[in-house]
Amino acid sequence: MDLEKIIRDVPDFPKQGIVFKDITTLLQAGDAFRQALNRMMKKYLDEDAGIDKVVGIEARGFIFGGVLAYKLGCGFVPARKPGKLPYRSVREEYTLEYGSNALEVHEDSIRPGERVLVVDDLLATGGTALAAARLVEKLGGEVAGIEFLVELSFLHGRDRLSAYRVHSLITY
Ligand code: AMP
Repeated sequence: MDLEKIIRDVPDFPKQGIVFKDITTLLQAGDAFRQALNRMMKKYLDEDAGIDKVVGIEARGFIFGGVLAYKLGCGFVPARKPGKLPYRSVREEYTLEYGSNALEVHEDSIRPGERVLVVDDLLATGGTALAAARLVEKLGGEVAGIEFLVELSFLHGRDRLSAYRVHSLITY
């Protein structure tokens, strides 16, 4: 199945000049969604990678991260936009392909020494995933890998994440 062709390009969203990779077309195609998830988790299952937590990045990272955590039998930690989490949190600022923002996780969501897999739908400039990785490290966790469905290789986000083991399923 050609997952690459199932993802829809939406030009000029959310801003002029951005080609938005709309993954909802993949999510709504059951076989494609399942295949994407199976392929994303295969190496972690094969390796018995000893993942303690999956950190999913708001919002589309929750969709993939939640399933990965379930299949790996580990905990799930939502990395959320500022002000959404109810309990004491740690924060990391970052820049986006189209703006800037911050991510937060609860301060007790990751324990020192835990092996953590960071998951998001798409790697663009890498700022978002780097912020999530830094949050893991702030809490003493070890980033075991960063997993994406899609990578926009022409934005060279992988260079910013060179300290980590990065995988993506579909590269444009
Ligand atoms: P970045 O921090 O630049 O790697 O941006 C990655 C985050 O922004 C991910 O959470 C993506 O969902 C979203 N994003 C950035 N650029 C795009 C794009 N062209 N199409 C879809 N989502 C994008």
